[in-house]
Amino acid sequence: MRELAPAALALACACACACGASPTHARDATTASSAAPPVRATTPFAGARFYVDPARVRTLEAAAASDPSHAALFRAAEKIPTAIWVDSIAHVPLVASTLDAVAAARDPSLVPVFVVYDLPNRDCAAKSSAGELTVESGGEARYASEVVDPIAAAFRAHPAIHAAVIVEPDSLANVATNLSIPKCAASEHAYRASIAYAVRAFAQPNVSVYLDAAHSGWLGWDGNRAKIAKIFSEVLAAAGGAGNVRGFAIDVSGYGAVTGDAMKRLAPGNPCDNETDYARKLAADLAKLGVTGEGFVIDTSRAGVPDARAKGGDWCNVKNAGLGPRPEADPSPGVDAYLWIKPPGDSDGTTDRRSPRYDASCASEDAMDRAPEAGVFFAPYFVSLAERADPPLR
Ligand code: BGC
Repeated sequence: MRELAPAALALACACACACGASPTHARDATTASSAAPPVRATTPFAGARFYVDPARVRTLEAAAASDPSHAALFRAAEKIPTAIWVDSIAHVPLVASTLDAVAAARDPSLVPVFVVYDLPNRDCAAKSSAGELTVESGGEARYASEVVDPIAAAFRAHPAIHAAVIVEPDSLANVATNLSIPKCAASEHAYRASIAYAVRAFAQPNVSVYLDAAHSGWLGWDGNRAKIAKIFSEVLAAAGGAGNVRGFAIDVSGYGAVTGDAMKRLAPGNPCDNETDYARKLAADLAKLGVTGEGFVIDTSRAGVPDARAKGGDWCNVKNAGLGPRPEADPSPGVDAYLWIKPPGDSDGTTDRRSPRYDASCASEDAMDRAPEAGVFFAPYFVSLAERADPPLR
């Protein structure tokens, strides 16, 4: 899905809540200083149970049926909630159907988590997750009317259901560091404007909106954090203000540990020891620009093995990775939740060199061989992740 930003490398080298019970935009009245980012006393997910996607359960059941020797691993994962990715216009109706199913469950603590991932010129710095819309052929208007508007309408139709939505993994990170890549330069305006439009539309009292902030191995360096903080402050101003988001999503589809100091070994010179540290440092940079009180969610689905990667920039189907900490509300100060945003076992990109979406990163020394297209469930990879799970999968 992503490429380690050349600029980041250069710098590295150079250097519900029960249903509406807790209003998602009303943050605690905290003031921030750059030295001490604000920490809220409560988060949107106190008392929440993240929703388990039945389609994911069906996928795991089918895998168990076709590989009985690993059935226990597949089945053990069935109870762990994962995000639902709206990665195409065809998948937009998933939001309304999921909210209908949550309503039917009559459990006000259930919180579905969605990822909206269909920007025009998506994945501008890599190829494996290239999308269906392009800037040149009116993708910005289609994104607004065929992706954002119907999703916003679905949230509006279910005001009693608290949902979380992660907006556009990797996109603004590419604006921060990859504008030397022509496709990214050509995407900058559409990315900024489309994300601002989406934030305005999703900013409803029952929705916790998180903008994607990539990960420490990409944006952790001081210079890159300053760049992304400035971009966030600009996009949020265009989106009606920072109050329209709950915060930022960290390490979506990544592998970074949430504690410890693995980054010191992976990229000496990167000032962030781990993803939680990155979130806190980013909060301090945002506070300098007046963006305060933000919460963070961290994708921990593949964060179980701190030293899984040979290079911090390796992102495709990292074979030594393991399932990480389970989804959990309020795991540490300033962190709203650990979530399994990337459904583990879903491929990051194909190893088939004939595919138009083949990206050489999927053949790196860290990448698992024989991978299908991005988003397709890759059972042997799931088994490998499950066998390396920390905490163990049972
Ligand atoms: C793919 C998406 C998929 C997501 C979750 C991304 O890499 O491009 O199509 O929905 O991963 O697996």
